[in-house]
Amino acid sequence: MTINFPALRGVVFDMDGVLWRGSEALPGVPEFFAFLQQHGIRYVLATNNSTRTVDLYVERLNHFGIPATPDQVMTSAVATADYVSRHYPADTPVYIIGQQGIRDAMAAHGFREDPAHARLVIVGLDFDVRYEHFKTATLLIRAGADFIGTNGDLTFPVPEGLVPGNGSLLALLQAATDRVPTVIGKPEPGMLEVSLERLGTSPVETLMIGDRLETDILGGQRSGLPTALVLTGIATRDEAEVAIARPDGIFESLADLHAAWASALELVGR
Ligand SMILES: [Mg+2]
Repeated sequence: MTINFPALRGVVFDMDGVLWRGSEALPGVPEFFAFLQQHGIRYVLATNNSTRTVDLYVERLNHFGIPATPDQVMTSAVATADYVSRHYPADTPVYIIGQQGIRDAMAAHGFREDPAHARLVIVGLDFDVRYEHFKTATLLIRAGADFIGTNGDLTFPVPEGLVPGNGSLLALLQAATDRVPTVIGKPEPGMLEVSLERLGTSPVETLMIGDRLETDILGGQRSGLPTALVLTGIATRDEAEVAIARPDGIFESLADLHAAWASALELVGR
């Protein structure tokens, strides 16, 4: 399958490995955003990271020359809070394992933490998590509280290698409670559903751009979006060509994707 560029009205971007790599800017990024704005293509920036706040991402995006407002930043924390607010009344007491990102997002919807009476346990990555927190969460879930995870990434890369991600925290609680969490982040459909709602576009007219096959590309495909893999992050071309979820387009970089999109529009005289 190829990408029908002239049909596109929106883009969901993964960030790390697509727009930047660590603290290093990737080439051609501001030019691509200028192109999208010129053609009236809307976009959101989506990440499975639930630890950081939306404001921090806006700052980082602007620092790299990418125009973005808070409503264009879709962290798994924001998507989780949005999901919860649609499925539970705002006075539902909650218990949260996680950092500022998920705490801010839940507070923004008016949810209150109450470990003694929580009906809902929400788990995001927390670098300060202790046995005590897992104990509280386990007892609550065993007593009937619902169990939600911001994202299921088992590991994530740091300079020393791969380290435990939120999926590993969820696995511990799953083992202790015999309950499977509802997970919101990519490749589950929750986060893309909220993203499409913000964009006001349908799946077929929205391109998912990412660097990971098992989250970005698989998630996009499950939700019916055309998908573009850029090779500036995790996945290689060899991996992409044998993957279960094969992307609709593979590009060396965002600059390469920009060139392909621009020439497709030229062909149809736009
Ligand atoms: Mg990435």
